[in-house]
Amino acid sequence: MKITIIGAGNVGASLAQRLAEQDFADVVILDIIEGLPQGKALDILQSAPILGFSHRIIGTNRYEDTTGSDIIVITSGIARKPGMTREDLIKINANIVAGVAENAARHSPNCIIITVSNPVDALTYLALKVSGFPRHRVFGLSGVLDSARFASFIAQELNVPASEVSCYVLGEHGQNMVILPRLATVRGKPLTDLLPTDSIASLAQRTIAGGADIVSLLKTSSAFYAPSAAILKMVLTIVHNNKELMPVAACLAGEYGLKDVVISVPVKLGKDGICDFEPLELTVEEKKMLANSAEAVRAQIASLPV
Ligand code: NAD
Repeated sequence: MKITIIGAGNVGASLAQRLAEQDFADVVILDIIEGLPQGKALDILQSAPILGFSHRIIGTNRYEDTTGSDIIVITSGIARKPGMTREDLIKINANIVAGVAENAARHSPNCIIITVSNPVDALTYLALKVSGFPRHRVFGLSGVLDSARFASFIAQELNVPASEVSCYVLGEHGQNMVILPRLATVRGKPLTDLLPTDSIASLAQRTIAGGADIVSLLKTSSAFYAPSAAILKMVLTIVHNNKELMPVAACLAGEYGLKDVVISVPVKLGKDGICDFEPLELTVEEKKMLANSAEAVRAQIASLPV
């Protein structure tokens, strides 16, 4: 198995480290900066004798080295600085992701593409169009991370292990995120029975601001530990063909009454990518919230070079 990560920055390099330590695939890290992916790959490689992993890891500036990848994760582009929204990144990152997706698809025509670069919903749409791949093989990181943020705040509030919280955050990876308390449970009990509505609303608000809060603390970069963990979870689900239910940024073709737009929806992931696009029944009200979220993404898509 071969996994390529485009972009050797914070998210890309942390993901490379996590993948190398899992020891199930060769890892290629590609960046435009000469020496950066090579240096990071060499550093990770030198931890192999200590941690006992044996798969290859290389850094490169050439797409030829990515040939035949099974999964390509696109993390290339600029990240937010304090005061910036994800949408502020669209002009620069759209150009970067268009070029990257074209090269990635040319060298690995059968791969699954996972987009990460922001704004991820619109850029997943772009990668889908540029690659020409079917929609089950191009999807983005959003809901797994946003749900993990919501789950970690619920766990903190109720003083329970985060592993005992289950929840779904759907919609745009941005201000119009759709948080669904109805589907949240703690040790199998509905969250709505455990916390008052105003407490749930304030945890939801913290979730929406989750990424921006980290940007304002770090000042020169955005989040990467939880994002790389979320990507690893998606990759492992694909590799193990688990068909586990999780929210990802996917292109809709009529599901939830929406078409030709990317937002986070619950899907099942397996060895071919998305194997079930509509595994959850949503209420009329929830579908309405998803539709509002989709409208916000459509406005971004309208500004893309496709
Ligand atoms: P970073 O600045 O640390 O790294 C980005 C890397 O991309 C840099 O090393 C840069 O040289 C490289 N790059 C730029 N243009 C390139 C090109 N054409 N080809 C190859 N490499 C190129 O940023 P980061 O913190 O790693 O974040 C990366 C992206 O992921 C950002 O857009 C960020 O907003 C996004 N992000 C998304 C999520 C999500 O949930 N979807 C979470 C975290 C970060």
